[in-house]
Amino acid sequence: MHKIIGIFGGTFNPIHNGHLRLAIELYEKLSLAQVRLIPAGCPPHKTQPNATNQQRLQMIQAAINGIEGLIVDDRELQRQGLSYTFDTLNSLRADYPKNSLGLILGMDAFLGLSNWYNWEYIIDLAHIIVVDREQYNLSTTTINAFLRKYKTNDPQVLTKQIAGKIWIQDIPTLNISATQIRDIIATGKNPNCLLPPAVLDIINVQQLYRCREYNR
Ligand code: ATP
Repeated sequence: MHKIIGIFGGTFNPIHNGHLRLAIELYEKLSLAQVRLIPAGCPPHKTQPNATNQQRLQMIQAAINGIEGLIVDDRELQRQGLSYTFDTLNSLRADYPKNSLGLILGMDAFLGLSNWYNWEYIIDLAHIIVVDREQYNLSTTTINAFLRKYKTNDPQVLTKQIAGKIWIQDIPTLNISATQIRDIIATGKNPNCLLPPAVLDIINVQQLYRCREYNR
């Protein structure tokens, strides 16, 4: 049996309770070995975040402090240049040759997967755990065919083989986004209860996200 390491990448600008609940739910529901939160260095699909790498890392560390199973992994911040998930998975595969890897993707990200660098080879390196946050229309034929080919309904397969399957996980999620939090802070409103108090302390002390024009 190969215990599954959950791989949860994102900008985390900032990390919030939506991210944390998702990681905790998956850790428990799929009996994961751990969930590695991996902040993106230079995300190819997004504009550069306005908090520094160091600040985003510090906020994640504060957020997961004391939460069982959640770990921060800064390998994308250590690398120069663009962060491709394919490269990150290769590096994780080298570090954990015997574990299953489970790349955690929201359904929205999964539907756009065919635009990613070396996307067809990702399934050779990891399972893909798709989190079904809302009802999505699986209209993209490429992704539909990909899903038909690799989808499993048997969770035990995810620990029998270390990569190669797609698992769809229905999970209750919180309707929170980092964009919403940055907007709330920039307009002088109160973001309490959307993110952990320890993260809010860092934001307040370091005066992050106060300027709306940099928040997009
Ligand atoms: P932004 O608003 O800046 O786009 P975000 O809140 O969507 O940010 P990201 O860092 O881009 O956060 O998200 C990282 C991952 O977390 C993505 O896979 C995304 O689908 C997922 N995610 C974001 N918000 C939630 C949420 N409220 N519940 C569950 N998953 C979430």
